[in-house]
Amino acid sequence: MSALDLLVEGAAEVFTATSAGALPDAVVGIHAGKIAWIGSRAGLAASDWTVGDATRRVDARGGLVTPGLVDPHTHLVFAGDRADEYARRATGTPYLQIAAQGGGIAATMRATRAASEETLVALARPRLDRLLGFGVTTAEIKSGYGLDFDNEIKMLRVIRALDATHPVRLVPTFLGAHTVPPDRRDDRAAYVREVCERMIPAVAGAGLATFCDVFVEQGAFDLDEAETVLRAGLAHGLLAKLHADQLGAGGGAELAARLGAVSADHLEHVSRAGIAALAAAGTVAVLLPGAALFLGQDDRPPARRLIEGGVRVALATDCNPGTCMTENLPLMLTLGMSRLGLSPTEALLAVTAHAAAAVGREAVAGSLQVGRPADLAIFGVPSHRHLPYHFGVNHTLCVLVDGRVVHGG
Ligand SMILES: [Zn+2]
Repeated sequence: MSALDLLVEGAAEVFTATSAGALPDAVVGIHAGKIAWIGSRAGLAASDWTVGDATRRVDARGGLVTPGLVDPHTHLVFAGDRADEYARRATGTPYLQIAAQGGGIAATMRATRAASEETLVALARPRLDRLLGFGVTTAEIKSGYGLDFDNEIKMLRVIRALDATHPVRLVPTFLGAHTVPPDRRDDRAAYVREVCERMIPAVAGAGLATFCDVFVEQGAFDLDEAETVLRAGLAHGLLAKLHADQLGAGGGAELAARLGAVSADHLEHVSRAGIAALAAAGTVAVLLPGAALFLGQDDRPPARRLIEGGVRVALATDCNPGTCMTENLPLMLTLGMSRLGLSPTEALLAVTAHAAAAVGREAVAGSLQVGRPADLAIFGVPSHRHLPYHFGVNHTLCVLVDGRVVHGG
C-alpha cells in the first residue's frame, strides 16, 4: 500500500482520450508525477493506493478533466505586432499590397531580427502563460522569423530557454524555409542551399529542433525545394512537417506522405489523392481554422473527408502575429465543429491524442493513462460536449504538469 500524492475528485466527467472514452464520476490519483489511478472511487478504495493525510486533494467542482491539451502548430516566438495590418486588411487592403509595402512576414522578420534573445523570451512568456491558462501543457513552436543563420539559431535558443523555465512542454521546429527573405530574393536557390547545408546541420548538431518544416505555397517554396529541404532535415535526424495545400491543391499532402512526414498542416485544398496518401502514410492532418476566421476567408479543410478517409485530425491555434493572433485553443474546438463538421469527441481528440501524435509525443502526452506523466486540465463545464459549445470564454479551473498544480487550483 502506498499513499497518493494528489487526488483529483469531484469531476462530472474524465475524458481520457483513450478507448476508455469519457468516464462519469471518476477520480484521478497521482503519485510521483505520474497517473497512478483513473476510475471509480470504489475501485480506488479496493486498490493498493491509499488516500492519506498527506494526499493533496484537488476539487474539480463538477467539471471536466481532460489530458493537458496539446497545441501542435504555433509561431509564438516573435517581436513586434501587426495590428495595423489586421485593421487595413479588414477594411479592404489586399495582402499583396501590404506585403509590397514591407508588411507581412517580412515585418515580423525585421522586428524579430532586431530583438535580443532575452527580449524574445520576455515577449513569448506571457503568450505561453495564456496558452497554459487555456489548459495547454504541450505546444509546438516554430522558428521562421529569423530567416538567416544567426537569427534562426537565436529563435530556437529562445524556444529552448522557454522550455527550460516554463511549465508548458515545448516541441521545437526549424522553419528556416518559411519564406525567402526579401534580401535573398535575387538568388532563392542560394537561400535553399544555405538552409540545407548550413542551417540544418547546425540546428541538428546542437539539438535545437525535433522537426523541420517548410511553407509550400506560391510565393514561398515549391514542391521540389520543399523536398530538398525536408530530405536534408531527415538526413540530419529532423522529422518532417509541412505547411501544405493552404491556398491551392499543390501536391503538398502527397509530398508529406511520400517523405513520411509526421504531420501535414493547413490542407484547406487537399486533394482526394492527397487524403488517401496521408492515410496510408499515417501522417496526421493539423487543421488551423482560426486563420480563416481571422482573415475573413471561407476556406475550410475537408475535415470529414479526412476522418472518413482514415486520417487522424488535429487542431491547432496557429498562434502568429499575422494570420491568427490567439492562444485560445478551446476556441478551435468550436471552429472545428461549426466550420469543419467535427463531433465534440473528434474535436477534443484533435487537441489531445491526435495533437500529441502530430508532434511525436503520443507516448507521453495527449491521453490519460496509468503510468503517463500527470499532465491534465480541469474545466468548469459538465462534459466534453460543453467545452466547444460554450465558446469564446475561458473555462479553465486548474492545470497540472507532472502532477503539480501550475495554474489555478
Ligand atoms: Zn504555420
